[in-house]
Amino acid sequence: MREVYRDLYALQQIDSEIQRLERLRVEIPERIKEIEELIKNKEDEILEKKKTLDLLEQRRLKTEREIEEEKMKLENYKKQQFEVKTNEAYQALLKEMEYSKRKIETLEMEYLVIEEDLNRKRKEVAEETKALIEEKKKMEEEKKKLEEEFSTLDEKIMLKKDERKRASTRLDPKLLARYERLIVSRGGLAVVVIEEAMCGGCFATLPPQYFQEIRKGERIYTCEYCGRILIHKDFVV
Ligand SMILES: [Zn+2]
Repeated sequence: MREVYRDLYALQQIDSEIQRLERLRVEIPERIKEIEELIKNKEDEILEKKKTLDLLEQRRLKTEREIEEEKMKLENYKKQQFEVKTNEAYQALLKEMEYSKRKIETLEMEYLVIEEDLNRKRKEVAEETKALIEEKKKMEEEKKKLEEEFSTLDEKIMLKKDERKRASTRLDPKLLARYERLIVSRGGLAVVVIEEAMCGGCFATLPPQYFQEIRKGERIYTCEYCGRILIHKDFVV
């Protein structure tokens, strides 16, 4: 019986490995896509911030121009001071000058706020760009590894399937058919190796007496709940 157990267990291990490899064949391209999207999202985010920086820079330049224009205006008013003929005109000019001075003050305040904002955002973008470069490097490495792993999968699966063919011929055809049915109906797990009175497939508790029988290993035992073949660890490990 021990030999039959070992053959069954070997076949299950091969099948589990094939299942794992086939899962990877689906999961790896998904992970690669995920990595690509992550990189793209980060790049877009930084690009957006750079656009904001450009806008701020434009505002800064515009404000700078406005300040200069206003200062020129003020200079002209100052020159006009000595040219006005009437008191009325002089008063009006003073008003204009006062207004101009205030406008310059306001613009200069605005300029400072913009400049501060600009400096802060520039620093942020620089830091984020640096972090992204690092992150991108790591992600590209992971992607490369995954691509390499993926490229070997088909061959690995093929080899395992050959191995499976050889392993399955060692089993009695009736037992093999039973095994195959279980593989299909029980999510790829037909043979469960147990150490205690519990089915490792459905986690049902086994009657103590039945467990003792399984320990003796005189025939093929199955879980009465899920039907999986139960083998005691001592026979296969
Ligand atoms: Zn079970």
